[in-house]
Amino acid sequence: MSEKLLSINPTNGSVIASYDIFDEQKVEKAVTLAHKTFDSWRKLSFRERGTVLKNIAKELRKQKKYLAELATAEMGKPIAQSIAEVEKCANTLDYFAKEGANFLANEVIETDARKSYVSFQPLGTVLAIMPWNFPYWQVLRCMGPILMGGNTMLLKHASNVSGCALAIEKVVKDAGAPKGIFQTLLLPSSRIEALIGHPAIAAVTLTGSTHAGSKVASAAGSHLKKLVLELGGSDPYVILDDADLDLAAKVCVEGRLVNSGQSCVAAKRFIVVKSLRKEFEKRMTEQMKASTYGNPMDTSSRIGPMARVDLRDELHKQVEASIAKGAKLLCGGFIPEGDGAYYPPSVLTNVKKGMPAYDEEMFGPVAAIIEAKDEKDAIRLANDSIYGLGAAVFSKDRKRAEMIAATELNAGSCYVNAQVHSDMRMPFGGVKQSGYGRELGEFGIREFMNIKSVFIH
Ligand code: NAP
Repeated sequence: MSEKLLSINPTNGSVIASYDIFDEQKVEKAVTLAHKTFDSWRKLSFRERGTVLKNIAKELRKQKKYLAELATAEMGKPIAQSIAEVEKCANTLDYFAKEGANFLANEVIETDARKSYVSFQPLGTVLAIMPWNFPYWQVLRCMGPILMGGNTMLLKHASNVSGCALAIEKVVKDAGAPKGIFQTLLLPSSRIEALIGHPAIAAVTLTGSTHAGSKVASAAGSHLKKLVLELGGSDPYVILDDADLDLAAKVCVEGRLVNSGQSCVAAKRFIVVKSLRKEFEKRMTEQMKASTYGNPMDTSSRIGPMARVDLRDELHKQVEASIAKGAKLLCGGFIPEGDGAYYPPSVLTNVKKGMPAYDEEMFGPVAAIIEAKDEKDAIRLANDSIYGLGAAVFSKDRKRAEMIAATELNAGSCYVNAQVHSDMRMPFGGVKQSGYGRELGEFGIREFMNIKSVFIH
């Protein structure tokens, strides 16, 4: 096991910083503090906790430029997207500061008691295991509800974004928040199973790959700890015969290239009915080819490098294996010369079952076009996946599309004529191997609460 966690600049492979991994003593100290702080934090009023959240939001806005540059340096996100990410985090904290008390108010239930109601009580210390792709958003979108509900939080961030992980802890400290409500632990994933078993950890939330989800689920299951899993996806975008093709092609390209293609709810499989396939291929390929990739600090780069060279190489293998099985490459599909984890926007068509581009998550800027015979076949293809995170359907007939989105597509978030994205007011999460439980909105804040029945005779 390496003694350090390394942050490596994905544009050139240089080491930005190396961080000491916490020893057992340091971890124990942090867990004990989180557990102790829970006792006082949970007793504060919603108004008091909300004020702390609002102060953290203010601090995020104050440090926005620094935070954005740090994320871009560590994982290659185009700088404008890093800035937007920090702003979204701040807005989400303000939202939960305002709405938390409503979401967690007692709910009276008529029974034969003198008085009976549901009361929402915090569970304790929540361990959050987070990915690098939105290094602030993934952490803050669970921090808002977790803290507002009266829980405390420990973060185990992805090993390549330790700078962002420590920066979040500093933001919380600079905001004057009570010591111990949020702490970062610098740990490799090999130390997580033991930590989940620690008696002071009440619950676990993981955002990451399906593989990590299954490991963490086993550990949480064996210790009977409450768990939320936000895992991978291979979102289908269904293009029906009456779709507005200009809109569909534009949204599909944007949806595929968001965060340089490294988003759980990026558009990944494009299921197009036969009558529109050729024209869709043409428009998508033109727009993908026109999408510039380059230095993420440069505002003219639409996409940056991927976060790590090994992830880029893995994606390229998926492309090559799909081509070997009969997929046709329309653009991209090569490893550029020079330094960095760059991969060009790429389009594969003739994608069929049995190819990685059909069966697996493609976590980078590669679009997979799949032809459908008709609407029924398109729905079948969309649902023919181990994943069920997001999905979209394009049709000028909104009623027809709404019916498909609401009742036919098997995913946690289904959009009509629009790109799937997370919204703090709406629950977010998946079905099948995309995970279980929800984040955000009223459903999200209730995940780490004891939904307690109170009965007074
Ligand atoms: P990852 O490799 O699964 O890592 C995610 C986190 O889990 C990291 O902190 C990682 O730590 C940790 N981890 C990995 N293996 C573990 C294990 N056996 N036990 C405990 N912890 C473990 O995923 P990633 O490459 O960072 O992120 C990409 C994946 O996340 C994609 O599949 C994407 O779709 C998914 N994702 C899902 C959502 C959602 O909301 N559903 C959002 C964003 C991303 P180390 O870095 O130390 O290995």
